[in-house]
Amino acid sequence: MVIGGDAAGMSAASQARRLKGPDELEIIAFERSTFTSYSACGIPYWVSGDVAGPDDLIARTPEEHRERDIDLRMRTEVTEVDVAGQRVRAVDRESGDTYWTGFDKLVIATGARPVRPELPGIDAPGVHGVQTLGDGQALLDSLDHAAGRRAVVVGAGYIGVEMAEAMLKRGFEVTVLNRGEQPMATLDPDMGKLVHDAMDGLGITTVNGASVTKILTGPDGRVSEVATEERTYPADVVVLGIGVEPEAELAREAGLTVGPHGGILTDLAMRAVGHENIWAGGDCVEVLDLVAGRSRHIALGTHANKHGQVIGSNVGGGYGTFPGVVGTAVSKVCDLEIARTGLREKDAQAVGLRYVTATIESTQRAGYYPGAKPMTVKMIAELRTGRLLGVQIVGREGAAKRVDVAAVALTAGMTVEQMTALDLGYAPPFSPVWDPILVAARKTVAAVRGAGS
Ligand SMILES: Cc1cc2nc3c(=O)[nH]c(=O)nc-3n(C[C@H](O)[C@H](O)[C@H](O)COP(=O)(O)OP(=O)(O)OC[C@H]3O[C@@H](n4cnc5c(N)ncnc54)[C@H](O)[C@@H]3O)c2cc1C
Repeated sequence: MVIGGDAAGMSAASQARRLKGPDELEIIAFERSTFTSYSACGIPYWVSGDVAGPDDLIARTPEEHRERDIDLRMRTEVTEVDVAGQRVRAVDRESGDTYWTGFDKLVIATGARPVRPELPGIDAPGVHGVQTLGDGQALLDSLDHAAGRRAVVVGAGYIGVEMAEAMLKRGFEVTVLNRGEQPMATLDPDMGKLVHDAMDGLGITTVNGASVTKILTGPDGRVSEVATEERTYPADVVVLGIGVEPEAELAREAGLTVGPHGGILTDLAMRAVGHENIWAGGDCVEVLDLVAGRSRHIALGTHANKHGQVIGSNVGGGYGTFPGVVGTAVSKVCDLEIARTGLREKDAQAVGLRYVTATIESTQRAGYYPGAKPMTVKMIAELRTGRLLGVQIVGREGAAKRVDVAAVALTAGMTVEQMTALDLGYAPPFSPVWDPILVAARKTVAAVRGAGS
């Protein structure tokens, strides 16, 4: 039995079905919304007009799941889990019918819910989240009713900056209100500053240190302004991108263990700790940060799909483990690519690691090759040992996915000195003869040695 019919839940169901046929394993999945197996990650590109959507964002329809003998019950919400009795209570949102049904094995994949502060005016027409395909459609419909072309995006994390791009492409004048020191708080502020400057260059106004206090409406009841402690910003549409928190209430109420960040705690096999027959995965769980050695909540589709695969393997009688993450994420705002993996300076400080940093400027192609554009790489390594701790990249086309090399190095526990000898590919259209990652590693080695002496 699966609760939650998106990335983690339906990956688990599909993988279990691959391993066991319907005569061996009955699979029931509950999804409270009208969508299943879709890519929320594609919403910003649907809103921008880069992808047609929303059909393009649906990986598998309910009918396709049912053809594979998965009893997917749409618009049906699980409202209670009775762990001891091995049963759940479900409510059919169409008919209102409520029923209990039993399970041998339970998968909780309830995702995350967007943070929506209780501000005056937050529910006014013209204020939109972008968590679901329904939200995406509502935002697009709302753009048709907007009296003017001024958009305010609240939040400057990756969803905020992606939505800033989307609104810019829709012809809006965009202001991003960011509570933090710089946009992209998943980067150190010095790298976030590069994002800020680039957004300025794109014509996106970013206001740092801006805490929204209320949303004002016009005579028609629609959003008209967004107020911060300092001033107000005119707005014909508002997009909220202020982060998410684990949707783990159901699990908590059922007595499952929840971690310091509010996510369900699991073991290596993605089993809810202390429960033989209950698994949990995706945005509703916490993951082990392999670099810092502590639990974190990171809501990313890349993890949710892997969790589902692991859970489905285990539920289906196979074998799978998910050891943890190194914290890799990529994003973009127009042609600016942003990437990070591992620890920021403040993460290293929080776990008591002493470190050095090095920042280099390079290009993603040989400097003489057409289209060569600047990119900045910041590398963090542990003092004395030289162990790689983190990498952040800001650059243009071809910059972001270079972070994957660093993600592998982190996973392997490599030192920056070992990284300098990595046999990375080179030809002028793809990189300078010294790849920017290698240049950064060399400079970080020098910093480690310098600090040592
Ligand atoms: C705009 C946007 C852009 C993103 N971009 C990226 C990206 O570029 N890269 C990336 O890695 N990730 C990205 N993500 C994150 C990614 O979409 C999520 O991490 C992923 O969808 C999590 O999958 P999940 O299955 O854990 O949860 P969800 O996708 O949230 O699915 C959980 C499902 O459970 C259902 N549910 C919850 N409670 C119940 C209940 N009690 N009964 C029945 N059903 C229930 C919900 O309706 C929901 O459909 C993005 C997210 C957004 C919103």
